[in-house]
Formats: sequence, C-alpha cells, structure tokens
Amino acid sequence: MEKPNTKSSARLPGWLKQRIPAGGGYQNTDQLLQSLGLETICSNANCPNKGQCWDRGTATVLILGKVCTRKCGFCSVGTGKPQPPDPTEPARLADLAEKLGLKYLVITSVNRDDLPDGGAGHFADCINTVRSRLDFMEFEILVPDFADCQDYALEILSTARPFVFAHNVEMVPSLYPKARPGGDYELSLKLLEKAKQSYGDLQTKSSIMLGLGETDAEIEQVFRDLRSAGCDRLTIGQYLKPTKDSLDVVDYIRPEKFDFWAEKAKETGFKWVISAPFARSSYFAEQKQ
Ligand code: SF4
Repeated sequence: MEKPNTKSSARLPGWLKQRIPAGGGYQNTDQLLQSLGLETICSNANCPNKGQCWDRGTATVLILGKVCTRKCGFCSVGTGKPQPPDPTEPARLADLAEKLGLKYLVITSVNRDDLPDGGAGHFADCINTVRSRLDFMEFEILVPDFADCQDYALEILSTARPFVFAHNVEMVPSLYPKARPGGDYELSLKLLEKAKQSYGDLQTKSSIMLGLGETDAEIEQVFRDLRSAGCDRLTIGQYLKPTKDSLDVVDYIRPEKFDFWAEKAKETGFKWVISAPFARSSYFAEQKQ
C-alpha cells in the first residue's frame, strides 16, 4: 500500500492544498524576525499557516533556541545539546511586539530538560520585559511539560502570569510510545491541572493532532481528561508529516469531521475551540469566542 507523503502536495486531499499569500505583510514579518534574530515555531515546525499568519502580522516566537532535548516522531524541530538562554532575547522579543503592533503575543519553546527550571525563568523574563514596555500586552505561553520541575516552574511563572497557559497533550496517549516517547500523558494533564489550581483566573489550553491512527473513542477520552484537569481551551488539527523522516500520516480527516469534533468538544465543556484541518495551537490564538 502506498504511504501518505505530505511533502508531495499532489497526494494531499483537496482541502489540504493551500497557497501561501505573497502579500507585503508576510515579507514585513519575515524581515523583522530575521533582523531581530528571532526564531519561530512557524518556521521550525513547517506550519502550514505560516503564509496566512505572517501576512496578517502574527507569529509564534520560539524562545530558548531551536535545539530540543527530546526527539518526537511528529516534530521537525532539531534535537541536540542546546545553548544557554540568551539574555538579549527578551528585549528583542519586545522590539518585535512593538514593531508589529501586537496586542497578543504567543511564546513557546523547545523542551529544555537540561535546565533546572525547564526554561521557566526565561519565559518569565520574556513576559516581564515585554510587559514593562507594552503594559497592555496579553500573553499566551505554550510550555513544555517541565517534567522534573513542574512545581518550581509554576512558582517562577507566577511572577509573570500570562492570559493563557497552554501545554499540548498533542495526541491520544496510546500513541505516545511511538510518537512522543519522551512525554508522559498523565504528567501533561498534571501540569495543566496544577496551573489552573495555582493561578485560578487564567485560561488553560491544550491541543491535539488527529490522523496519527487514533480512534474516536480515544479522542473523546482525551476531551474528558482535559476537562477533568480544568482545561478551558482546545485546538484540534490534522497531523501533517513535517519532514520525510517524520511519522507517516495514517488518515486525512475530512473537514466535516473536524466540525463534529468542535461540537463534541463544546459539549464536553470547552469554552474556546478551534477545530479544522489546519488548526494549530497558536492559530488565531488572539481570537475571542
Ligand atoms: S498557526 Fe501558529 S505556528 Fe502556525 S504559522 Fe500561525 S502563528 Fe505560526
């Protein structure tokens, strides 16, 4: 049987063929990021929405370098020994937010299992530096699972509370050994639960990819597990093979099925849901619902 290969757009179903707009907004965002020496998850994860998001002047900044201490089968970010946090990065992030005229800033990072605080201190520095210059800014942080330091990381982040605290379970737990071997589903749920309990008034968010071979019953169970952990927001998107070495796509889920999952998620109690083939954790993150 032929294996799906999303690197060849000819093999994609029609609803997954998308043209990148060549508008001036895209180039402006691109040049600004390059001149400030900032990384994005948009580029490092080969996000299919890059054209659209950058054209409208939004990007998700990848702090703490582009070298991850883990190696997940679904992700295209490089693995290795990362550099220490760059103390100039928070100010460069503030420059970006100022020049793009942002009101809502999404920040994420690679896993930094090499750092005693998992990188939480650098997240806090970034938020506090931007906030000191742009006090109206709302922040969404998409953090790793802080495997061995969850309580410590949450204590640090309490000095720089975001509007949304996001951590992605990424997929149903039965797929973790194959696709997310360094992860732990229960630990991810625990982080979301602790963040909700510690900070109370903030929104928590997670994201799941479909098309990796999960069953409908497993998806519904993830919805229930996230709600039990107090999770408020959810994005549901199609897994797309980001590099030739990444895991193969098992199914292309039709857009109508994503609509079905959006309804199901709302029935389960999520207040904010984006469910679509190209939905990603930070896709239209600033949107009010
Ligand atoms: S959806 Fe998120 S990661 Fe993808 S291009 Fe938009 S901002 Fe970047």
